[in-house]
Amino acid sequence: MNDIHNMNERNGSFPYSRREVLKTAAAVSTLPLPFVGRANALQTLPKLPGVNFMTASDPRNGPDFEGYSAETFVVPRLRALCHSAQGVGNAVKWAAETGKGFAIRSTGHDFAGHSQHEDLVIDTSPLNTIKIPGDGKQVTVGAGARNGAISIALAKAGRILGGGTFGSVGAAGITLGGGIGHFSRLTGMLCDQLESLELVDASGALRHVSAKNDPELFWALRGGGGGSFGAVTALTYRTTSAPSLTYVDAPVAVPAVDGARILHDWQHWLQQLPRSMTLHLLVMRYGGGDVLLKLTGQSLESASVTKKHIEKLFGPGNPVRDQWLTQAPAADIMQRLYGHPHYVTPLYLASRSQIIAEPVPLSGIADLLYALVSHPPRALSVNFEGIGGATGNVDKAATAFPHRAATAIVHCNNVALDATGLEPARFAMPAVMKALAPHATGGVYVNYPEADLENWAEAYWGGNLPRLREIKRKYDSSNLFRHAQSIPL
Ligand SMILES: Cc1cc2nc3c(=O)[nH]c(=O)nc-3n(C[C@H](O)[C@H](O)[C@H](O)COP(=O)(O)OP(=O)(O)OC[C@H]3O[C@@H](n4cnc5c(N)ncnc54)[C@H](O)[C@@H]3O)c2cc1C
Repeated sequence: MNDIHNMNERNGSFPYSRREVLKTAAAVSTLPLPFVGRANALQTLPKLPGVNFMTASDPRNGPDFEGYSAETFVVPRLRALCHSAQGVGNAVKWAAETGKGFAIRSTGHDFAGHSQHEDLVIDTSPLNTIKIPGDGKQVTVGAGARNGAISIALAKAGRILGGGTFGSVGAAGITLGGGIGHFSRLTGMLCDQLESLELVDASGALRHVSAKNDPELFWALRGGGGGSFGAVTALTYRTTSAPSLTYVDAPVAVPAVDGARILHDWQHWLQQLPRSMTLHLLVMRYGGGDVLLKLTGQSLESASVTKKHIEKLFGPGNPVRDQWLTQAPAADIMQRLYGHPHYVTPLYLASRSQIIAEPVPLSGIADLLYALVSHPPRALSVNFEGIGGATGNVDKAATAFPHRAATAIVHCNNVALDATGLEPARFAMPAVMKALAPHATGGVYVNYPEADLENWAEAYWGGNLPRLREIKRKYDSSNLFRHAQSIPL
């Protein structure tokens, strides 16, 4: 870690001439996209220590760098692939010196394309180391380390980190927005487990940010979202002991009326469960008026204890099968969940989310299911991602993540291979989410961004917005780090 901390002392000066930079930048930025690659091949890009530039036509600039959302993905004229914190600092300084607009990317899962930019992407995905010193009570990861790899490495030490359910999601993006996952009720949000970060600020300097150093920035980076305050290079979290886990994947197809009862009861049931269990409930249309309910998540209790709890929720008519619960050492569970090579296929995505803080009454749940069963397509799902527990123990002003009263983030989404395939979902989604609106807080989770949300800043950050803006003005007064929904000055 020392090499990261000392970057500024060793590399404080700009390593090439301003003229060289401006010449390159001007030549690149005035060309239409198809010619950029050829032009770049003919001229010399600046040599920045720790950075490999890729042009648009570079054959390596392929699927590894695609975004999750096919609709928002663009191949940038230049991708600055950063291999060290020093490289990130050099890329940020170069962008600032040349006046180039840019986006910062970790692993490209942003629904709204905030990590995409047609000119320059400062790409931190190569910073993917995972360091677990000694007793495993802490883990330090690079900005581009992925949830699956982190979970596997920690589980080998009998430890977990509570945040993220999908293996390929990167540490920087998810943590900066909050981060919910399979252990959130026990551990809190991923940002609650954060002890410190390394961040390149608007001057290109590397800061060690923690509650002690730069407390305001530390506050803002826990829930304020990515791409607003600087480029994170590394993150250190405290971890939780979990030598053994029970993984739950319990699907039941039931008539909509039974589904409404289970979904309604799940809200009360979850809040009374031991915090050692975080179990989300997904609902989708099944056919013939039935709905499919899928309870998924992790429990630190044994399979038999976990099963007893689930039986209470599902009721006597829906026996809980043993094969829906896998109890094993944490290392085996994580290997099974994430031990396959990650590959994110860019998909067309429709996504809307709402936050609930009080249980939705049965009439509201019935309205939601009616909208779901009476609208195509079948693949449209509504996931009740349960939080509460430790996530609610933190004051709403203690970090930038404001949704502390939430008991669930309700996420309606659908993916398709092309834009046409998504049209039925785009048509149905407003009706489905409208049924929930009277019972929701009006807030939206910043990690599920909606490009067309009108009052996005208030919805993402609520009462924490004014303080976020103050901190933005203090640390990035020129708005160097920006995208369509970054913290406004
Ligand atoms: C399939 C899928 C599953 C998901 N599952 C979960 C889940 O279980 N829990 C949950 O909470 N969220 C989940 N999400 C949402 C996810 O947390 C966000 O999409 C998150 O922003 C993705 O992180 P990323 O590193 O891929 O981000 P990117 O798309 O690379 O970036 C996201 C934002 O962070 C900024 N950013 C990226 N890298 C850096 C950096 N190094 N420094 C500063 N800013 C940076 C970008 O500029 C952008 O604004 C999921 C998303 C997908 C697509």
